[in-house]
Amino acid sequence: MKRILLATRNPKKLVELKEILGPDWMALSLNDLGRDLPEVEEDVGTFVGNAVKKAVWTAKVAGMLTLADDSGLEVEALGFRPGVYSARFAGPEKDDLANNRLVLSLMRGKANRRARFVCCIAVADPQGLIGVVRGEVRGRLSERMLGREGFGYDPIFIPDGYDKTFAQLGAGVKHRISHRKIALEKARDLLKIYTSPL
Ligand code: IMP
Repeated sequence: MKRILLATRNPKKLVELKEILGPDWMALSLNDLGRDLPEVEEDVGTFVGNAVKKAVWTAKVAGMLTLADDSGLEVEALGFRPGVYSARFAGPEKDDLANNRLVLSLMRGKANRRARFVCCIAVADPQGLIGVVRGEVRGRLSERMLGREGFGYDPIFIPDGYDKTFAQLGAGVKHRISHRKIALEKARDLLKIYTSPL
């Protein structure tokens, strides 16, 4: 079986990534490595730049094929914030509840509630970058937090074509239409070319 390292420690993201990658891949996480790699600082300022930095550095240090993602929420009326600062929008604690509350409070009274989730995935091996892909899902923000599933901003994001949040819709719907799913399908094609014998 083909082995790939997923450069994340977020257990919920790992589940999503593994599920979408499918059974052809033996996906290891940073926690499976048996040694502690220092955290890569996501300081590039773009999703693409952060994903590439994380993938290239981790692949080199771990000595194996690596997939890294950087993702977040972009809200039109907030000038596309929180963007690359999504995880720590309300502070360094990376508190999902505080982040959701902050976004909702900044959105109070705003008519335009359009938003999108963006995911960039970079794939690298110890020799360097193999490629980078991007996926997005468009939608709008709810007026309040709704639903219990998922993580991050799932309780306030309603994807286009639905009238419920990702946290209400659950994995059955989310993993079919999400930004991560779209990016990961592109990454899977990239990996197919990379692992092809031709
Ligand atoms: P990252 O780990 O640096 O990619 O941070 C991504 C952050 O963006 C997460 O902590 C969430 O706040 C948000 N985010 C990314 N993808 C999702 C998603 O699928 N649902 C909800 N929030 C997400």
